[in-house]
Amino acid sequence: MRIAAVLLPLPVPEAFDYAVPDGMALAAGDHVHVPLGPRLVRGVVSEVREQTGSNRRLKAVAERLDETPLPPSSLEFLEWAARWTLTPPGEMALLAWRGLRHGAPRAERIIRRVGGRQPARMTPARQAVLEAVGAGASTAVELARRAGVSTGVVKGLIDEGVLESALVPPPQPQQPDPDRPGAALNPAQAAAADAVARRIEDRAFRPILLDGVTGSGKTEVYLEAAARLLKAEPGAQVLILLPEIALTQAVIGRVAARFGATPGEWHSGVPGPQRRLLWEAVASGEQKIVVGARSALFLPFKRLRLIVVDEEHDASFKQEEGLIYHARDLAVARARIEGCVALLASATPSLETLWNAESGRYDWLRLSARHGVARLPAMRLIDMRSDGPERGRWLSPALVEAMGETFAAGEQTLLFLNRRGYAPVVLCRACGQRLTAPDTDSWLVEHRYTGRLVCHLTGFSMPRPRHCPHCGAEDSLVSVGPGVERIEEEVAERFPEARTAVFSSDTAPDGAAARQLVERMARGEIDVLVATQAAAKGHNFPNLTLVGVVDADLGLRGGDLRAGERTFQLLAQAAGRAGRADKPGRALIQTFMPEHPVMQALEHLDRDAFIEAEMAERAQARMPPHGRLAALVLSSENPQALEETCRQLAAQALNAEGAEIYGPADAPLALVRGRRRKRFLVRADRTVDVQALVREWLSRVKIPASVRLNVDVDPYSF
Ligand code: ADP
Repeated sequence: MRIAAVLLPLPVPEAFDYAVPDGMALAAGDHVHVPLGPRLVRGVVSEVREQTGSNRRLKAVAERLDETPLPPSSLEFLEWAARWTLTPPGEMALLAWRGLRHGAPRAERIIRRVGGRQPARMTPARQAVLEAVGAGASTAVELARRAGVSTGVVKGLIDEGVLESALVPPPQPQQPDPDRPGAALNPAQAAAADAVARRIEDRAFRPILLDGVTGSGKTEVYLEAAARLLKAEPGAQVLILLPEIALTQAVIGRVAARFGATPGEWHSGVPGPQRRLLWEAVASGEQKIVVGARSALFLPFKRLRLIVVDEEHDASFKQEEGLIYHARDLAVARARIEGCVALLASATPSLETLWNAESGRYDWLRLSARHGVARLPAMRLIDMRSDGPERGRWLSPALVEAMGETFAAGEQTLLFLNRRGYAPVVLCRACGQRLTAPDTDSWLVEHRYTGRLVCHLTGFSMPRPRHCPHCGAEDSLVSVGPGVERIEEEVAERFPEARTAVFSSDTAPDGAAARQLVERMARGEIDVLVATQAAAKGHNFPNLTLVGVVDADLGLRGGDLRAGERTFQLLAQAAGRAGRADKPGRALIQTFMPEHPVMQALEHLDRDAFIEAEMAERAQARMPPHGRLAALVLSSENPQALEETCRQLAAQALNAEGAEIYGPADAPLALVRGRRRKRFLVRADRTVDVQALVREWLSRVKIPASVRLNVDVDPYSF
């Protein structure tokens, strides 16, 4: 009898066995429907094996679906990822076939202009339609919506022969041309590109750290390496991972310019049918270059030969909700399974990656200067204790003066503040209470553009009330502290003639909006951009010469062990936006603790001294990268059940050599939507198999259905 092990999207640690009906051709990677209780469930076959004399009566596979199978390396990768992250493999598998949940796009009727024909009679509505047609191809319905008219107007123009509708098939992947000339590389870039290309030629697994200051041309280096690969091996595929949708847009533009072909784009903002198309094209090998967010790692590549993780240090690579995984770490694992190169690029690499580079496990390529005549920005700390602004203002006199000079010179300013909205806290002057979302520990943030108070954690929102919800006092609520909207307000007051804009996940919620803001900035239509981290990374604006960091201490206050590293990375990246090409830049950093090691490292552009001190501290505490961590977060609406489960876990905590278990303690957010949250932390030496330890520990305790358990292996915050 043949038996198929099938991965089903269920919270169980193993595949389910089913009998393969006689005559059904079935192999690992195939998509199937199988019976589960009264239902048919979709799954992926992980293995087909022969078995004789089974004593169990297995149910049979109901149907083999006519879909492109997952290639063996994809299957191997997701099973490995499931083991590493302690995630049920069937749930991991869901990430790999999610792209198939949508139908493929069909041919569409696109409206076009008929060359030279003018309407007999012109009206404002017709004018609007003709302008909208000029701006890009679309269907009649879309066109009418963009022009703000009824579809009747479009139809009238078609009847008159001014417009025509044509059936256009869905776009095919464009083939990159590796022979197009790229930028002439400077000697340091050329050496780095050679080193990467040689490793790619070895056709073996190799991680490489491309460590280069902002503006050193890391992107040019990996595009050159990709070009050589595609030239030498026409079937090869390249994956470029980026931490933010806004950044994917910029890199897609550069890939398109370099290769004369738009790469595949993969992230949550891409419409389902288009994702389906890309999924198929990646599986067939048609799609050569993919630029995407972390989930692109689960695409079914046929012949993946190079994975680039750009801005590898970025916290956004860590997926913290649902399935918890670090895309940078999984990228290295995928490269190992594919036997290819993983190139991790950053100006401020993570301590984990630096540790791997220092110990020789990764190649380490350094670019220490900006390309061409460009210089790193001049850094200056502003001591807010002595040189801060008057009460109720957030921009210091020195920063305002620098902004004035920059504006007068016709150059651009970026003000960085990693806080969305208008004010991070709303409190009542009468009773002193801070407003929070219902049954949640996180404060409500005031958003003035929308007039609402929003919980950034749960998404809860409400109109700003006139009465305090706690004591009922009228007009007693005050907005405390600045967010980007409030900074923009202050800029507008001080520089009424300057053109300002805010860049955050509120003003740029998707790829298109982000691209628009980036383009407006690049065209010089914005004088002062007030931005959260969504815009402070990776972009190049040649006319941007001043960066002001509004509150450099923000990330240091919460104070987990990674706070220093994270703050240094974020501020170095933000400051690095200043000055490109032939225009020198400067960065002004507002801080209440100028003597803090992070501020000192920034002021003196001395990353290495900072990293050395930070690494020594981690070694001392035997914390990552000098040790490993796993966090168990338990949550429940039932406090007794939560207490009891925690008690049992604590009682069963293992006594392993080289490992300690801490907790339970309140999790960093102890109450979310009425659920209490507790956390255990496992710390282990690097010689300890943390996953095995946690698995063994959990096997001793029965977690009731009313308690949810999330395991976070290598948590980002600790
Ligand atoms: P990084 O990724 O290291 O921040 P980029 O690759 O974005 O650097 O390069 C920074 C800027 O310098 C970009 O505008 C890029 O086009 C330009 N640049 C980098 N290298 C070269 C080169 N060899 N020739 C011309 N322009 C370059």
